[in-house]
Amino acid sequence: MHIREYTDVINACKTCFMCRHICTMGTETQHEADTPRGKAILLHSILNKTMELNEETVAPLYRCTTCGACKNNCVGNYDMPSLVQAARADVVEQEKAPTEVARIKDNILNKGNIFGLKKDIPVGMQSSKKSAGKADVLYFAGCHTAYLQSGIAEAMTRIMTQAGENFTVLPGEVCCGKPLYLLGYRKAAQDWAGKLFQQIKATGCKKIVTNCPSCYDVFKRNYEAMGVSIATEIEVLHAAEYISDLMANGKIELQKQLGMIVTYHDDDYLGRFHSLHELPRQLLSAIPGIEPVEMRWNREEAASCCEAGGVLQQLYPQISRSLAARIIDGAVATGADRLVTVCPITKGALSAQATERIDVCDIIELMVETLM
Ligand code: SF4
Ligand code: SF4
Repeated sequence: MHIREYTDVINACKTCFMCRHICTMGTETQHEADTPRGKAILLHSILNKTMELNEETVAPLYRCTTCGACKNNCVGNYDMPSLVQAARADVVEQEKAPTEVARIKDNILNKGNIFGLKKDIPVGMQSSKKSAGKADVLYFAGCHTAYLQSGIAEAMTRIMTQAGENFTVLPGEVCCGKPLYLLGYRKAAQDWAGKLFQQIKATGCKKIVTNCPSCYDVFKRNYEAMGVSIATEIEVLHAAEYISDLMANGKIELQKQLGMIVTYHDDDYLGRFHSLHELPRQLLSAIPGIEPVEMRWNREEAASCCEAGGVLQQLYPQISRSLAARIIDGAVATGADRLVTVCPITKGALSAQATERIDVCDIIELMVETLM
């Protein structure tokens, strides 16, 4: 069993209460099974064969957002998100995955995207007016941007064009594979990663730029774990890092005064897993006329509303909506005009709950407003 590798986490967490107050899912559902301790007790029983994986015991494993709040607040640095992902791999190997989880996997394998939408060129890719070709920089949009948040892809390609960058996209761009890995389909994820890496290498790119923290994280961390050495051969940058470099090299200049108060929502993966809390704030501070304000829960303590790849929205939409509404309340309380994210999935989740209380946008969309 994969969870055996995390016996130290199971043993530590099953008798510990210290992070339950910051657990995204435990504080939302108020169910003991959704706390880090609850999951550890459950997995201890599974490991010792006093319980088995079934519909009831599998559910809390897929409710965890793998946000990392527990790990980051743990004095022992016990890695609950990795334990949960190992447990999901056991679930898949024992063929106990819930129907909705299997549907996401089938969508990716059969249609190339998490939604199971038609295999046409995604909207975001069409608008970039780019076709396959060799270039120094590959812009990788990811499913959510390409299919649901095409405005972010348009803004990104406008910035790259204005900066005079030699870039390309994959016209038949498919999912990065993060949801496969995250949901426990490790073999499928490894095969997927190997094939996608070959397509990416064929572009001859030296850099991959993505505005999606899930794609960024899978390329930087999970591909390596699956034996696909993308991040050692090609530089992987989040759009915030890339835009920051463009500014530092004088390739773009922020000109237009925006005159607004903005608050920034930290992304789980970019923030907790890659320590990129300050860079997006520095970008916002560089925009003329912007007044940044902080939400009560920020940086390491920021709330989360989705899981990587947006799987929580598909598996537990009501919980995802409720988590997003909490973040909107926190943003509105700051008095900000605009809530800024660095994740297309989060942007979609927060926009849906914002109604008319606050504007929500991606940082790239805000940057583009200042360029023209
Ligand atoms: S992650 Fe750390 S703080 Fe949380 S339950 Fe486990 S040992 Fe305790
Ligand atoms: S990763 Fe997040 S949701 Fe999962 S147990 Fe830890 S704090 Fe809770």
